Amino acid sequence: LQAKKVIEPCIDDVIVVVSALGGITDQLLSTAREAASGNPEYELQMQAISARHFQQVEDTVLPEMKDNVRTRISELLGELSNIFKGVFLIKDLSPKTSDAIVSYGERLSSVIVSGTVQGAVLFDSREFIKTKPYFSKHIVDFPETDRLIQKYFAEIPHISVVPGFISTDTATGDVTNLGRGGSDYTASVIASALNADALEIWTDVDGFMTADPRIISNAYTIEHLTYVEAMELCNFGAKVVYPPTIFPTYHKNIPVRIKNTFNPSSPGTFISKSAKGADNGRIIKGISSINDTCLITIRGLGMVGVIGVNSRIFRTLAKSGISVFLVSQAASENTTSIGVRNEDADLAVQVLSEEFAQEIRMGEINRIKQERNLATVAIVGESMKHTPGIAGKLFGTLGKNGINVIACAQGASETNISFVVTIE
Ligand code: ASP
Ligand code: MG
Repeated sequence: LQAKKVIEPCIDDVIVVVSALGGITDQLLSTAREAASGNPEYELQMQAISARHFQQVEDTVLPEMKDNVRTRISELLGELSNIFKGVFLIKDLSPKTSDAIVSYGERLSSVIVSGTVQGAVLFDSREFIKTKPYFSKHIVDFPETDRLIQKYFAEIPHISVVPGFISTDTATGDVTNLGRGGSDYTASVIASALNADALEIWTDVDGFMTADPRIISNAYTIEHLTYVEAMELCNFGAKVVYPPTIFPTYHKNIPVRIKNTFNPSSPGTFISKSAKGADNGRIIKGISSINDTCLITIRGLGMVGVIGVNSRIFRTLAKSGISVFLVSQAASENTTSIGVRNEDADLAVQVLSEEFAQEIRMGEINRIKQERNLATVAIVGESMKHTPGIAGKLFGTLGKNGINVIACAQGASETNISFVVTIE
């Protein structure tokens, strides 16, 4: 990401946020699990992780920096190996230890990347990306994080390197992280705190696609999206950037460019406030889908006109850390259907059945029902707003093709129409 230089605004200064070497986060987690299960083979996996990093140093670090980088990498790998040993001996892997282990991926890669560019200054994001607990997750503590980023980058070096993904808890100082894929988010949080000129996400695909190319063979890269469209698409199926990434840049109106590291000449996807530009005139920008859908239905004639039923549904689910991505309730109020991930379904049914035990006993609400292994499909486009006929065309097309819609939802923002279907 590029940040405005405070003193001489003539050359672009760059803050490079790095993720771990490809596959390393998964390997760290699997090595930790092996060690915790008492399998001495974890040592072989640790050796593979070490070898991979030393090889990367040989392949990419500038000759004059190699000694320093090698020394630092050895220290970090030594610490990591001691932590694995501890996990192996006590056969216990707490979430806190797991978070500490997984942080080494970015700590190692950032040291290596900082050794590939003359004069690059390495920062430790654990000092300024701060989190607070929220249900079972850690979320960014924005006031503290923004303050610290502005302090650490009061003077912005020409080239800075920052490990993505990792953070620390504001209150305890424990190492935390922003969730899998969170390096994109680190970059966006920093861009926003510093009012950067632009945020670039360099990934391994050309950008957002009109549909999943594994399903739709003539899907193509979308050149221009609005923030809202990008948020709709990445929150939903399109695994191009980590979903929370867009919001901080939207908030500050910082343009975002998604680029393919392996195909840099491709224009990628440009994300900004207004849709004017390449895709102007296209009402639907993309179609995304997730197969992993379970529909939970809370239904009963005793719900009609009763105030507070939905509030209880959502409070109960939130308390158990269950995320709801689709809600549908008809105006008759006798059925509320919600879409959750299959893995959350049993817990959702259990906690809702407890919450409404009394009403279920009295027959006011039926037994809570779940229907698994469905797919949710969404069509996204900000210009759908006030354009009549889109829903008609959508449902007409589904009907003509014999596809039954189980539930559907459209928010009044009219930027997304989502519907749930069975998977063949
Ligand atoms: N290394 C982390 C992960 O694999 C974060 C990232 O790559 O963005 O999830
Ligand atoms: Mg990533």
